[in-house]
Amino acid sequence: MQDLKIARIDVYQVDLPYSGGTYHLSGGRTYTSFDATLVCITTDTGIEGWGESTPFGSNFIAAHALGVRAGIAEIAPHLIGLDPRHVDRINDAMDAALTGHEHAKTALDVACWDIFGKSVNMPVCDLLGGRTSAALPVISSIHAGTPSDMCARIADYRKRGYKRYGIKLAADSPAADAARITACLAEAQPEEFFLVDANGGLTVESALRTLRLLPPGLDFVLEAPCASYRECLSLRRRTDVPIHLDELATTDVSLAQMIADDAVDGIGFKIAKSGGLTKSRRQRDICVAAGYTFCVQETAGSDVAFAAIVHFAQTVPERLLRCVLESREMVTVKTADGDFAVTDGYVTAPREPGLGITVRREVLGEAVATYL
Ligand SMILES: [Mg+2]
Repeated sequence: MQDLKIARIDVYQVDLPYSGGTYHLSGGRTYTSFDATLVCITTDTGIEGWGESTPFGSNFIAAHALGVRAGIAEIAPHLIGLDPRHVDRINDAMDAALTGHEHAKTALDVACWDIFGKSVNMPVCDLLGGRTSAALPVISSIHAGTPSDMCARIADYRKRGYKRYGIKLAADSPAADAARITACLAEAQPEEFFLVDANGGLTVESALRTLRLLPPGLDFVLEAPCASYRECLSLRRRTDVPIHLDELATTDVSLAQMIADDAVDGIGFKIAKSGGLTKSRRQRDICVAAGYTFCVQETAGSDVAFAAIVHFAQTVPERLLRCVLESREMVTVKTADGDFAVTDGYVTAPREPGLGITVRREVLGEAVATYL
């Protein structure tokens, strides 16, 4: 097989305004725009691969947009001359150049997979193990608001065929959060799935009080109830509500600890938390072995990030996959085109080589950094 070498890495910065005005998370956190970093890797043969990393602001997990670009500056010079298809070796080189900072590695890693697919004329999902026959159920993201406002947004998605809803808690008071959950699930249909996400905003005490205020029989999964692993484990041992962890599930090591402690029933899986598709592939297999369910999401992102999570979700066994996040809907800027139409609340990965996207260069502006 012909050698391929990374010859050039270009970095772009794009602001992605939130489509719904202001996004409210627990703890009074608000967001009106997301700072995206897109990377284009070019090989010595002229193949281009794209990746994106967009943190959800700077106070969601330990990642921020300036850190993404600073991390890429540390790593990129070490990748010039390497074969982008040797994805584990690429990750070895990235880890040797910079400890942690998985968000910075994500855009570079995904761009390598895009090149890999284009070089062998295969879609990324097939390189990751092969596509399942499943149509992937898309989840909406319902930010915290008043119960009636949240219900109205759910009703709007329901009309469009959605059956999966991510319900954000504000963690302002047990009574207010219990009212949100009760209202949002009042019209729940049998096939629907509700992910109630506190984004680490609750204490064990406030979580237990919130759960006690709910009417019996509500069918939902509680995601990321508390900020620390100790608190989540304590809550887990005192409730029968299924629990997914998200912000606290980032590395192979954290997953191994969760399995050892029987700490969760599923994972809020975000490629950018893990450092890209290479590490996500390994973590997918660990989670499958543990029998965990998956909500494949992203910290935020435009079309390039969405393409990566759709290809990844397309390789999760259907019985374990609960949803994939429609991250594109949260932003008003379109950075790429591709065959990623959501139809009646479902999406499937395209058959084109690589990620199957054509980037809209005109929205990217000039590169903010180039490495040769
Ligand atoms: Mg979450």
